[in-house]
Amino acid sequence: MAHRPYIVGNWKMNGSRALLAEARAIDRAAQRHRGVQVALAPPFPYLGLLRDEVSAIGVGGQDCHAVAKGAHTGDVSAPMLDDIGADFVIVGHSERRRDHGETDAIVHAKAEAALAANLGVIVCVGETLDQRDAGHAQAVIEAQVDASLPRGHGAAEAAAAGKLSVAYEPIWAIGTGRVAAVDDVVAMHAAIGARLIAMYGDAGGKMRILYGGSVNADNAAALLGAPGVGGALVGGASLTADAFLPIVVAAEPDEG
Ligand code: PEP
Repeated sequence: MAHRPYIVGNWKMNGSRALLAEARAIDRAAQRHRGVQVALAPPFPYLGLLRDEVSAIGVGGQDCHAVAKGAHTGDVSAPMLDDIGADFVIVGHSERRRDHGETDAIVHAKAEAALAANLGVIVCVGETLDQRDAGHAQAVIEAQVDASLPRGHGAAEAAAAGKLSVAYEPIWAIGTGRVAAVDDVVAMHAAIGARLIAMYGDAGGKMRILYGGSVNADNAAALLGAPGVGGALVGGASLTADAFLPIVVAAEPDEG
C-alpha cells in the first residue's frame, strides 16, 4: 500500500513558546486532513512542550548524535528523542552538513542510531549550485544517498513501514525563494528511487522522497502532484499555520 504524502515542517532555529500556538492550529487542521501525514520539527527546547500539545501531527528532532550517551556537550541522542516522545528525526540537513562539518559517514551513523532508537528518519541530500551547473547533480546525489542512508538496524523494514524517507533539497533552493524546476525534481527523484530500490528492494520503491527548497502555497500543488514526489520538507513556510496549511491541503490526494 502506498504511504500517505508526508509534509514536514522544519522550524530550524526559529520559534518560541508563543509560536506553539501555530503548531496547535496546524494540529487541529491536520485532524481534517488524515490523507496526509503531517509533522513538525521544532528546536530541541520546544520538542517536549509540542509533544504534549498535539495529537494529530508527528513531532521530531532536527538532528541527533550517533551515540546514545556520553561526553558530547550540547548534543542530543536518538534514545533521548524517543524518550521524550519524538516520532522521528531529520538527519543530514545541508545546514548541519555546512555548520557542523557533517559528512555522509556521520549522517549515516546518525541515521543508524535513529533507527536503532525506533525513530522515523528523514535523510537529507542536496547538491550545490556549482555542482548542478557543472552537470554533476545526479552523481552527487546518488553518492550521498549511497553513503548516508542506513543499511543495518532493520533499515529495509523501516523503509517498508514508511519510517525511512529521503528529502531531496537542492542547497541553492533552500531559503532562497528559488524553487527547483518540476522536471528537474522528477528526474532527481527517479534517480534517487532507483538507488533506494537497489538498496532495499521493493521496500525502497515505496519509500517517500520529499522535495525541499522554498516550497510554499503557490508552488506546492505543482511539486506535490509530480511523479515520484512523496511529500515536502518545508522550512520558512512551516512557521505559521496560514503559510503551512495550504501545503498540507495541496498534498491531499483528492485536493492537490
Ligand atoms: C528546509 O529547511 O529544509 C527548507 C527546505 O527550507 P525552505 O523551505 O525555507 O527553503
